[in-house]
Amino acid sequence: MSDEKPHAAGNVDAGDTSERVGMAVLRERGLEPEELREKLLDAIGAEFTTYYYYTNLRMHLAGHEDYKEITEDARLEDRAHFELVAPRVYELGGALPNDIREFADRASCPDADMPVAYETGGFDLENLTAESILEVLLEAERCAIRTWSEICDMTHGVDPRTYDMAQRILQEEIEHEAWFVELLSMERDGEVNPAGHFVRGEPGDAPYSTNNRFNDSA
Ligand code: ZN
Ligand code: FE
Repeated sequence: MSDEKPHAAGNVDAGDTSERVGMAVLRERGLEPEELREKLLDAIGAEFTTYYYYTNLRMHLAGHEDYKEITEDARLEDRAHFELVAPRVYELGGALPNDIREFADRASCPDADMPVAYETGGFDLENLTAESILEVLLEAERCAIRTWSEICDMTHGVDPRTYDMAQRILQEEIEHEAWFVELLSMERDGEVNPAGHFVRGEPGDAPYSTNNRFNDSA
């Protein structure tokens, strides 16, 4: 009977829960699922830390309500990116590190920390400018674009599930870069350099990556 159903059986024994066909099919197509999984952990480590750091950056844009609003969209969307991909790590046989420090250290992008010194509980606010914050935001988005582009390259034509996630995230990261190019151009250089789009309808809408519409069980 099973001879007539080409996919009824494969390399994994019936009932064996120590193996995953979802990983075996990647290996058969030349992608090491463990390598991809570690890359995804690094990438969502960066999304998670960026979400944290953007909280600080957004708060310190006091008086620039427009900048704050857009930074909030980018901040919440980075959290959505973490949420979207975290289940995929488990599907690939991995797990989130127990220690958040380990998770932060392996992030694939630099810390998006405040561009002024921090001593004994306070930032050196005298030397803080909106321009310097916008520069940190812009470079964080650029690192994210590079990261998710690499994951798109790794998975294209091989792993449709991860590719779909990565391309959704990449679309938002490219929009984030455009927002901060626009804001920094005007703030620093007095130059009009339109993003082509405005803030989200709701803060952090994540039109491509939100996992409410994509994966309710996450
Ligand atoms: Zn992101
Ligand atoms: Fe982003």
